[in-house]
Amino acid sequence: MATFGTFLRLKDKGLAALRAGDYVAARPYLIQAAECMIELAEANRDPARRAEQEAYAKELLDLARDCDRRAAAGAPGARPRGARARDEEESGARAEDWIVREKPNVRFDDIAGLDEVKEEIRLKMLYPFQHPELAQRYGISVGGGVLLYGPPGTGKTMFAKAIACELDATMFVISPAQIMSKWVGEAEQNVKKLFDAAKAEPKAVIFMDEVEALVPRRRESQSTVMTRVVPQILQELEGFDRKAGRALMFLGATNEPWSLDPAMLRPGRLDAKIYVPLPDAAARFKLFEIYLGKRPLADDVDFAKLVEATEGYSGADIKAVAERSAQRPFLESVAGGEPRNITMADVLAVIAEQPPSVNRRDLARFEQWAAAN
Ligand code: ADP
Repeated sequence: MATFGTFLRLKDKGLAALRAGDYVAARPYLIQAAECMIELAEANRDPARRAEQEAYAKELLDLARDCDRRAAAGAPGARPRGARARDEEESGARAEDWIVREKPNVRFDDIAGLDEVKEEIRLKMLYPFQHPELAQRYGISVGGGVLLYGPPGTGKTMFAKAIACELDATMFVISPAQIMSKWVGEAEQNVKKLFDAAKAEPKAVIFMDEVEALVPRRRESQSTVMTRVVPQILQELEGFDRKAGRALMFLGATNEPWSLDPAMLRPGRLDAKIYVPLPDAAARFKLFEIYLGKRPLADDVDFAKLVEATEGYSGADIKAVAERSAQRPFLESVAGGEPRNITMADVLAVIAEQPPSVNRRDLARFEQWAAAN
């Protein structure tokens, strides 16, 4: 199934290759990104949003076609300078080309477990927006920046979507690569266009995954730009005029909080830091209910035993276990076997083949960081 994360990754890779003038490499990524977007559009219940997504997929396919033409016209990399400058001018001018907005349809109730995290998010992010007069009376700050951190696959992206959905806000999904992408424009302009687009909405949530990538890893030419981008984002947030009923929130997510620019974590900035941990036993039970419970199950499937067998598994891991367990009887019946239900043996075999994606050392690092911050 296509996810927004997959789409962004493919699109970013396609655009990065395109930017480098490598049309042969760019083409398949752009096509796959378009296919992914089409799948997302098909699953979208909002007709207006669906039309937007389809139009976006078409733009990506046009770009891929363009790659074909260019690759046929000359060897990769042999791109005339003039053409490149012209492209940048054109693409840099149109924020709609790279700023993806969505109206997510994920509720807090769709997220298994993590009750403490939900309560923290309600307190810091939902209630102040939903009850602005009370928030003002008690001096509770509204909006601003929030950091969701924790191991991969624990539902950080899902939380960001659920927050936007519960606030009835428009969500802007953006990656550091896009902000830094010369192909879409200069970094500073990109940040400005993004915030201008978000501020034009009554309520907006800007979501940036892998936010640590805004910090330069090595001293390279881009680092000066990057060191300007973080303060600019923070300034845009601080400068937002918080009128009642209007909301602008910046949600950053990271699997590597220790790589973050310390400037981002100072008070008044991404100061609400929320740890999204691995699911506990109760949450894993709920995850099995969500992802396995709706499939045809044999009587011997025992969720309590599965919960015991999946200590250390993330939400995404459990979803994958459920999907792979269903593939076993499915493939057998495709091959001509009598359709049968998913058995306990199917699920346990998948669990045995698929260890948890987060190892103990990484987990300890998260717990340490969480305790210190
Ligand atoms: P992250 O952003 O933390 O890497 P995601 O939100 O992208 O994780 O999670 C990947 C997928 O795993 C989600 O789309 C969802 O299907 C599933 N998932 C993860 N955690 C949960 C959870 N607590 N409840 C329900 N589904 C979850």
